[in-house]
Amino acid sequence: MGHHAGDKLLQMVSARLHDFAAEGILARWGGDEFVLLSRGVTKQDSAPVMAQKMLDTLRQRFEIDGLDVFVSASIGVSFYPEDGLSSETVLERAGTAMYRIKKDGGNHFGFYSAESSVVWTRDQLELERELRAAIKNDELQVLFQPIVNAQTHRIARIEALVRWLHPKRGYLSPSEFIPLAEDIGQIEALGEIVLRTSCAAAYKLMQLGYPVNVSVNVNPRQLLNPQFPQTIVQVLRDTGLPAKSLILEITESAIVNDMERVSRVLEEIKRLEILIALDDFGTGYSSLTLLRELPIDILKIDKSFVRTLDQNRNDLKIVQAIIGLGKNLGLAVIAEGVETERQVKLLLQHACYFHQGFYFSRPIPYEALYELMQHKLH
Ligand code: C2E
Ligand code: CA
Ligand code: CA
Repeated sequence: MGHHAGDKLLQMVSARLHDFAAEGILARWGGDEFVLLSRGVTKQDSAPVMAQKMLDTLRQRFEIDGLDVFVSASIGVSFYPEDGLSSETVLERAGTAMYRIKKDGGNHFGFYSAESSVVWTRDQLELERELRAAIKNDELQVLFQPIVNAQTHRIARIEALVRWLHPKRGYLSPSEFIPLAEDIGQIEALGEIVLRTSCAAAYKLMQLGYPVNVSVNVNPRQLLNPQFPQTIVQVLRDTGLPAKSLILEITESAIVNDMERVSRVLEEIKRLEILIALDDFGTGYSSLTLLRELPIDILKIDKSFVRTLDQNRNDLKIVQAIIGLGKNLGLAVIAEGVETERQVKLLLQHACYFHQGFYFSRPIPYEALYELMQHKLH
C-alpha cells in the first residue's frame, strides 16, 4: 500500500502501545520494531498478562485509507538484572527472544532463556555462514524436473529446482534455505547461480540435439530489481542459450506488493522474448487480476488441485475452469504435481497436455535428465 500507509500504520500501532507505557518508556526502535521498558513486571504474572494484552490489542483491525488492515506481532521479553546488567545486553536478549518467536511463526511472546538461545543463535549463525559460503563457492546444486507432453510422452520442458547438500544436514530443500537467503541478502546471488546453471544445462542439451525450454523460479526480490533484465541478458550471452528457450516462473506473492514496478521489469523481460509462467495458479487472491495486467504466457495449475483431482469433484471443476481460462486467453497450461495415471487420464480428457510430477519423474541431476531425454516417459 506504499510508504504513506506504512507510516500511518506505525503511528496507529504506537498509539495502541502507548497505553502500556504508562509507567515506562515506549520507543520505536527502527523499521517495524518497538521497545517497551517497564518497571516492576514479573515473569510469573504481570509480564505474560501484559504481553498477551499487547498481542490482542494489535490483532484488532486497523483502518487505513478506508481499507481494513491486519497485523500481528512477535514479542521478546528480557529482565534486568537477571538477563543482563547493561542496557545493551538486556535489549539484545529481548531481541534474541523475539527472533525465536518470529522464527516459530510469530504472533506470540516469549522470554529470553540462556540455554535455548545459545543453541539457537549458534545454529542460526553457523547456518548463515555456511549458506553464504555455499553460494560464494558455487556449492548449490540444481536439479531438473521434466515437464512432459503427455500425448507424445516426450520431455517438452524442464524446471530447475535448487538443492543444498549441507555437509552435516544432508540435502536441504528450498523451503529450508530460501527464506534464510532472503534474510541475509543472498537471494539475488542464489537466483543468478540457478539461472546460469539452468541456461548452461539447456544449452548443452540443445547442442546434443534435445532442444528444451528451461523454467527457472524467480524470487520477488529479483523481480523488484530494475537490474534484473540486464543480469538475464548477460547470463544468456555467457551461456549461449537463446532467450526464447528460457521461461521465468513467478508467483503472485512476488507481484501484489508492487505491481507497477514488477510489471515494468516483466515488460522489459518480455521484449527479450523470454516466456513468463504464473506458478501455483489458483492459490492466491488476485491471480485473475494478474492475468489481465501482466504479460503471462503459461499457467501452472497448483499441485494442491491436481493432487485430489481424482477424488474431489470440485477440484476437477476448478482444474477444468483453469484449463478453459488458459485456452481462451491463448496461454499454455501445465499441471503440476501429477502423481498417478488416473490424474494423467483426467487431465488429458480435459485437454491439458503438459504434465509435471512424480508420476513422470522426480527432480533429477543433469546427467540423469540427459539419460531420460533419450526415452519416452510412460
Ligand atoms: P514450485 O516452483 O512449485 O516447484 C514445484 C515443487 O513441487 C518442487 O518442490 C517439486 O519437487 C515438487 N513436486 C514436483 N512434482 C511433484 C509431485 O508429483 N508431487 C509432489 N508432492 N510434489 C511435487 P521443491 O523442489 O521442494 O521446491 C519447492 C519450492 O521452492 C518451489 O515450488 C519454488 O517455489 C521454490 N524454489 C525451488 N527452486 C528455486 C530457485 O532456484 N529459486 C527460487 N527463488 N525458488 C525456488
Ligand atoms: Ca515453479
Ligand atoms: Ca508450483
